[in-house]
Amino acid sequence: MRFVSTRGESSPAGFTEALSAGLADDGGLYVPERFPSYDLERFRTAGSFPEMAALFIEPFLRGDALESQVGEICTRAFDFPLPLTDLKDRTALLELFHGPTAAFKDFGARFLAECYERIASGADRGTTTVLVATSGDTGGAVAAAFHRRPGVRVAVLYPVDGVSPRQERHLTCWDDNVQSFAVGGSFDDCQRIVKQAFADSELCSRMRLTSANSINIGRLLPQAAYYAVASVLYERRHGIAPGFVIPAGNMGNAIGAFWARRMGFPIRRILLAANANRAVPDWFDNAEWRPRPPLTTLANAMDVGNPSNMERLFHLYPERESLLADTASRSVDDATIRQVIAAGPESWGQVWCPHTATAVHLREQTNTPDWVIVATAHAAKFETIVEPLIGREVEVPSALAELLERPTQVTRIEPRLEELIRQLDRGGQAL
Ligand SMILES: *Cc1c(COP(=O)(O)O)cnc(C)c1O
Repeated sequence: MRFVSTRGESSPAGFTEALSAGLADDGGLYVPERFPSYDLERFRTAGSFPEMAALFIEPFLRGDALESQVGEICTRAFDFPLPLTDLKDRTALLELFHGPTAAFKDFGARFLAECYERIASGADRGTTTVLVATSGDTGGAVAAAFHRRPGVRVAVLYPVDGVSPRQERHLTCWDDNVQSFAVGGSFDDCQRIVKQAFADSELCSRMRLTSANSINIGRLLPQAAYYAVASVLYERRHGIAPGFVIPAGNMGNAIGAFWARRMGFPIRRILLAANANRAVPDWFDNAEWRPRPPLTTLANAMDVGNPSNMERLFHLYPERESLLADTASRSVDDATIRQVIAAGPESWGQVWCPHTATAVHLREQTNTPDWVIVATAHAAKFETIVEPLIGREVEVPSALAELLERPTQVTRIEPRLEELIRQLDRGGQAL
């Protein structure tokens, strides 16, 4: 299998090459050259999620150095539960928050880490440095996934005043091969430093820089796998293909659903829930693609004004009309998010995180049955928002509690690349 750029100007790459590069060299995003087709019967008679994920991902690694290891990669990466829980009114909940940092990003980050570890241990490769800028959930998931992996070290940059207290703990509770940098600036400053680092070819080769951000193909494949598996499971239980309601920000999670549908998995409709950042819903309404500066909302991991994965959706659907036939998108404001969370225990017997609440609202607005609500994070990650609304404490899942008890360490830096380099040269050895 080869991967091509959405912009069509770079040469096709194998899986390992596309994964290591992150972005194609024409600035586009990697997509599969062709989508494989599957014998769905094999998924119907299926075993555990890691087994089915391996079945799903294997064709994408065909011909790659990692092909023979896909089973082991999936078993180790997805070592936590993935429940599809039936709620009321022919509605199920896909709980993507049982990984170590309690959000769906654990799937992609852990799969990527298993792949990188194997690539890095290939002949003679020295230490790879994974550099990430984060506004919250991504950095924690990547740090957790790469912690103590041989041959790899991680540098996470976050804005010193831009993350919640619990998010900050997830970013700073590491040691050994993970270094956290609190940057005296905004998320944009963090991203600028990372971009400057990747533009410096001497630095890239000296530090073997690589990215782990959400446009990486290695993060998308596991996200497509859980839609494939959940759709087959729902259909087996209820005899009908479900629709999925997905909280969407940068659109990486949702692209997984579109890819699974294109590959023939039983997905009836896709509803994209946005927060007050309206670029995607506005495009559905009026065909105008107008990226804009991000707005701050209660669902902060979806505060994206220019969702980069839309480029993959445009590539998948050159004709907008065919997409509109079975997809829709709506914006949900903060006041509604609050109402949905406050009513959650009574209406659904659930405590929602602010991101999941956007999807719950769209589900409540439709009157057709057979929907899967995609729960992207555990409410305990956003306790400062959720607890006052429901009037009680949210129980912290044990994996999360463990992280919250670890000692923290962080290096404070000014928003300049030279300072980051000086700090990286000084410490943070890989094992
Ligand atoms: C990252 C994130 C999202 C948005 O996912 P995208 O892939 O950026 O669309 C939604 N909810 C939570 C909890 C997240 O961490």
